[in-house]
Amino acid sequence: MKAAVWRAGEEPAISIEEASLLPLRPRDVVVRVEASNVSISDHLLLAFDPIQVGWPAPQVLGHAAAGTVEKIGSDVRRVKIGDRVIVTSTPNCGECYFCLHGRPDQCATMVFVGPAHATLSDGTLIYPNASVGSFAELAVVPETQLTAVKTDLPSDQLSLLANPVGTGVGAALRTAPIKSGSTVAVVGCGPVGLAYIQGARIADAAQIIAIDPLPERRALAMRFGATHSIDPAQVDPVEAVLDLSEDAGGMLQGRGADYVFESAAESHAIEQAWAMARATGHVTFSSVCLDMMTAKITFPALPFALAGKTVHSCQYGSLDQRRDLPWLIGLAERGKLDLVGMIDRRYPLTQLLDAMRDAGTRSVIGPTLMPFA
Ligand SMILES: [Zn+2]
Repeated sequence: MKAAVWRAGEEPAISIEEASLLPLRPRDVVVRVEASNVSISDHLLLAFDPIQVGWPAPQVLGHAAAGTVEKIGSDVRRVKIGDRVIVTSTPNCGECYFCLHGRPDQCATMVFVGPAHATLSDGTLIYPNASVGSFAELAVVPETQLTAVKTDLPSDQLSLLANPVGTGVGAALRTAPIKSGSTVAVVGCGPVGLAYIQGARIADAAQIIAIDPLPERRALAMRFGATHSIDPAQVDPVEAVLDLSEDAGGMLQGRGADYVFESAAESHAIEQAWAMARATGHVTFSSVCLDMMTAKITFPALPFALAGKTVHSCQYGSLDQRRDLPWLIGLAERGKLDLVGMIDRRYPLTQLLDAMRDAGTRSVIGPTLMPFA
């Protein structure tokens, strides 16, 4: 099979190479990758030295995909050959503390890098990022990271439910969750931010305030359901949200948003997101900072202690894959969740670096790798 092999520090950083799968472990599954989302986090990884942070190398990146089961290990019970599956980086082992308490997004079996799954022609072992490694024709994935689905939706749309749409809609409808009639602010209107906005629209939020410096992203936000947009380069976004969120009693300048969602991938934006939530409001974070290994955020101590705000952090929108992916598919099938509009460019495997560049420069909202297209 062909795989996109990432070698940090080399030029090019990724090369398409022939690889042979190792013998299958009992609970692993071979998935034919039909579509794989390319996210800004994949682009950010290219700046890392995996050896320095203790990761094995070389790796195959790609952590959100959809495809078809080709082969199963001897102890696999959740899927069978021929099943259509959504592949997620967050497992649902069903046995750890977090899975048993309804938060598989924190599953104890989650890993940054899985065990070696294939060899290159010179015998070099390669490792799948997030135990997925979907920038390849075939991925070897633990069954705990697979959800079998029954739908006629195409695989490129299904891969969005692994990320970023699952992440954003899950945060809006499961992590927060938004109540009808609320005022919602979204800081950062990239793919996850646009999915927050879709979640807010589905939840019947009365006001959805989109904040992003890029005019094309603000236009997309309005298309996906925002009622207002703010350019943070022109106005203070915290003041603007306070102005837009009315205090029914007339005693405050503005009460602040009932729910704030952050996906700007920048530490100052996280601080602003917290500040624009009303007292007793909810703030949900799920983005990864550009300087994610060293960034620090600060909050003013007195309001942080007294304002009664609830801060949520989550991975994958707190979704329980086996419970929630069929629900999200139903929302898409009934026309309530727009997946079609979230994919604006598809790439063959040979153009993976272009897709990662486009994700990094924010010039494409839904870059999708189609290894067999
Ligand atoms: Zn678990």
